[in-house]
Amino acid sequence: MSVPVAKLSFWGVRGATPTVDPATWRYGGNTPCLELIAPDGTQIILDCGTGLRMLGNRLAAANGDRVSETHIFVTHYHWDHIQGIPFFAPFYADKNEFHFYSFRSKYLGRDSLKKVFETQMALPYFPVDMSAMNAKRRFQEVAGGDSFFIGENKVTTRALNHPQGCLGFRIETPAGTVVYATDNEPGNRDLDKGLRELAQGADIFINDAQYTPEQLAGPKRGWGHSSWKEGVQIAREVNSKTLVLFHHDPDSTDRMVDAILRHGREEFDSVFAASEGMVITLGAPGGRVDAHMPGTRTALRREAQFRARVSGVTEGGRPFDEETVVSDLSLQGALISLRHSPRLQSELQVIMETPGPNGLQAAMRLRGYVVRIDAGSEKGLSAVGVVFTD
Ligand SMILES: [Zn+2]
Ligand SMILES: [Zn+2]
Repeated sequence: MSVPVAKLSFWGVRGATPTVDPATWRYGGNTPCLELIAPDGTQIILDCGTGLRMLGNRLAAANGDRVSETHIFVTHYHWDHIQGIPFFAPFYADKNEFHFYSFRSKYLGRDSLKKVFETQMALPYFPVDMSAMNAKRRFQEVAGGDSFFIGENKVTTRALNHPQGCLGFRIETPAGTVVYATDNEPGNRDLDKGLRELAQGADIFINDAQYTPEQLAGPKRGWGHSSWKEGVQIAREVNSKTLVLFHHDPDSTDRMVDAILRHGREEFDSVFAASEGMVITLGAPGGRVDAHMPGTRTALRREAQFRARVSGVTEGGRPFDEETVVSDLSLQGALISLRHSPRLQSELQVIMETPGPNGLQAAMRLRGYVVRIDAGSEKGLSAVGVVFTD
């Protein structure tokens, strides 16, 4: 019998509005969209931010003429969670079937999400109207406190503290439990309690970490968001195993998100900062949560071999320092063979010997950010992909 495995992919992780400035490209600029494939094959999409477009292209290419059935949970109706809808190719193919789950907004009344679709695609806001969306669409209203099954997966919802309302989702699969709780601000007793019920013992707890604790205590109070510190506190209280910091502020550069992640890791064992292209596998042999990050986005590679000295921290948090060879070098990153297995999303110092002028050796110092770790071709070595951050 094979082990049940669930796969969670991050297609959009940015909050409020998409960003395209280069200082945000490492974590990514698309607004919220996640994909969860449960062990029984149930396909779930969480939110319809701009990340939905790329997911749609991937699905359209992978499915071909195959009929697909997908369940889409929409947390709330703010722009950043719905703006990918008109650009999702699978909505335009009549063979596809979608089940939508969202709450009834007091501003929209019955069939809130259906109204969002119609309004969003009304002329003159979008050139094509709803009649072009041929896929079968079923809308189901859910409210905080509801619980239901999709296939063998149990879904539970709770209302979160956010202007005009928001829903958090807990999905229990045979491979593990994923909790998606974005757009929530601490400070409401009942809703804080609900969030803890939702996150209780979760394998993956994805929480709003848009602001720093200082911003949250000051100018951004009341804006409906949370911080890494709140996430850590909840994860500790209710024994969530891995915390994923999500909904990065559009004004947070990669360096700022690095700092937020570093603070989180100082206080909790297993923390990731959500990153576009990140894939987390649940239930793989060994019972570990296994995360993968996308490689460099631009392949301007040069086959070369440079001797280098690399230092960093291991998965277990121990510092290491070793001599190695850097191969597959590009302007943005490199693939490095290491005996040690560094921590994903940690920083490596790389000092490389490169041929200098007149054939003399020159040392180049770089800071690398670990985006992936694979088993190397040689036994005992890891192939570590890094992106250079300066
Ligand atoms: Zn949002
Ligand atoms: Zn919102």
